[in-house]
Amino acid sequence: MRPLGWDNHVRYGQKKLGEMLLDASLIDEGQLKTALSKQQRSSKKLGEILVNLGYTNEELVLNLLGKQLNSPYIRIDKTEQIDNTIIHRIPENLAERNLILPVKLEDDTLWVAMSDPANQFLKKVLALLTGYHIKSYIASPKELKQAIARYYSREGRFEKAADNAPLHSYFLPLKQLGLTPRQLQVFDKYLEIQKGCLLIIGLENSGKKTTAYASLRQLNFPDNDIVSIERKMDYKLECVNQLEISGTSDQDMSRMIDNVNQFNPNVLAVENIQGVESWNGIGRMAEKGNLVIGTINTDQDIVDFLADFLNKRTNHYSVIENLTLLAQQKLVRAVCPYCRSPYKITGKTARKMGLSVKGATINIYKGKGCSVCNYTGYYGQTACYELLPVNNTIKDLMMQNASKAKFKKAIQKEMACSFNDILQEKLLKGQISTEDFLQVMGQDINQFKELKAVQIMDTFWTLFEKSGSINAYLEYRKKN
Ligand SMILES: [Zn+2]
Repeated sequence: MRPLGWDNHVRYGQKKLGEMLLDASLIDEGQLKTALSKQQRSSKKLGEILVNLGYTNEELVLNLLGKQLNSPYIRIDKTEQIDNTIIHRIPENLAERNLILPVKLEDDTLWVAMSDPANQFLKKVLALLTGYHIKSYIASPKELKQAIARYYSREGRFEKAADNAPLHSYFLPLKQLGLTPRQLQVFDKYLEIQKGCLLIIGLENSGKKTTAYASLRQLNFPDNDIVSIERKMDYKLECVNQLEISGTSDQDMSRMIDNVNQFNPNVLAVENIQGVESWNGIGRMAEKGNLVIGTINTDQDIVDFLADFLNKRTNHYSVIENLTLLAQQKLVRAVCPYCRSPYKITGKTARKMGLSVKGATINIYKGKGCSVCNYTGYYGQTACYELLPVNNTIKDLMMQNASKAKFKKAIQKEMACSFNDILQEKLLKGQISTEDFLQVMGQDINQFKELKAVQIMDTFWTLFEKSGSINAYLEYRKKN
């Protein structure tokens, strides 16, 4: 979001605050010069600096700005108690992040006190969210902060408690999600160009939204207008205007996309794009040259997704045209780092598993089980990605509805690390287990006598430690 303050109106073609104060003879040229030179060395706003220097006071500055911005100055700490039904027209996270407070309702107009009434984008978001016309007051950032804490904290306490829950993956930056360094470079590159369509596919609960959130957080810099349309708001992002859709139908989603399109954010994220109408909206947004980050719940892999794109998503030529990066994501259990220990397998078995390793033996790791991982040997999950930069050859194939074989061939050259490469790396580093490696790669552990023997031994020890006798193990063997 854009920075808050008193001199943001400059971008809207209005008179600079300094000039306005000069014109009104509220400061002299010497004072303005001093303040401007101070501003160059600080991140503070001009208004704030002038006030701090004692050349003028906040009330005068806000009054003046309010006139310029058609937003009367309001003393929030002097207004009557605002009714709760009005307060809750605007969610706490939006109020807190943007320093705004709904003050009164007048027919179809909601009056909102804002620290930066020049933020037209925010007003559009508020109009969309509340269904009211928005008119603004200008208010002191400090008073707004205090009032927001006062009005929202009474009911917000429970929510705050939930926020203190154990560290959730939604907090993680992109570089900690499991992309390899090379993949991270590719991903960064496509975020940086900030246009076109970046799609993340994968099964439900495969961490796609975490990746989308991390991407949005990375794009958080001043003047970047970011909107995220979500089916369920799992986590409050500091930098983003999050909108939750009320229904589950494609119309609910596409209507929201179209509404957001009208005010043209630089970045739009959409959670779980499904129906044809929504895809049309995504296409229109991407055509404008903005960035769309979309997640799609699917069990298809990249080849199936590409080969099937036009069948399922009739005529989405504009999406294809603007597609930049396609990512597939899988979550794999992470071996517990607290009880991880190595064991050896023969190079022969490793090569049969598809690992490109040399030597007679190699080290693989497993979690033996400890109190941290609740004696499971696994602790948390790691995300694995396949990234496909979508070039013109691939786009042409998509337009032609080409066969899977053609896609496979075209993709091989472009793919920035395949699942095989990624999983192999994670396996050899001891981040994932052989069991999970084989499962994700679609291989049966029973084909590998050596691995099977280790697995049986493990089961034996687990059952033995639990019960103190070998009977449980013998029972287990009978059944398996
Ligand atoms: Zn452990």
